[in-house]
Amino acid sequence: MAGNDQTAARICPGCGADLDPEVGPTHNYMTSSPACYTRFTAVLAHEYSDPALLATHRLSVDSYAVQHPGNGAERRMVQSVGLHLARLCVQLEDHAAGRPRGAEATNAVMLGLGQHKATLEWLEPPARFEVTVADVAPYAGGPEHAARVIAWAEATWADWSAHHDYVRDWVGRWLGR
Ligand SMILES: [Zn+2]
Repeated sequence: MAGNDQTAARICPGCGADLDPEVGPTHNYMTSSPACYTRFTAVLAHEYSDPALLATHRLSVDSYAVQHPGNGAERRMVQSVGLHLARLCVQLEDHAAGRPRGAEATNAVMLGLGQHKATLEWLEPPARFEVTVADVAPYAGGPEHAARVIAWAEATWADWSAHHDYVRDWVGRWLGR
């Protein structure tokens, strides 16, 4: 999953988080600063070690992915952004509609959507993000972990509001909604 070491930068080129520069690995196509990626892997480490954080883990991955979209130059960037936005849409809006977060049905829905990712179009990312992994990482592993991730996911989905209609339509097309 880790790509080449990147030159240390203060402002993350993906989410805009302002962090003390570090030198280290980043993801292959989710463009981030090394310091930001370090925060993300710290959050994930706690989620991998606690089965109660499974549903939270999915939201962390989706939020991080759509905050580090790249420039759409590669097909995998287009599909990553679209699919992770679709997953946020399903999890947050289904939950709002009364379906439990992290239910088996949600897993099946998300696997099914993945089969249609070749139909996704590039969606231009928002100029800035209200909440980033830098706001979540200080709470990783603590009692507020899940709540902070959910707030991060909801803020991220809201930041992408210009494309909500596209994502809802795309999800609805394959789920027959
Ligand atoms: Zn970042």
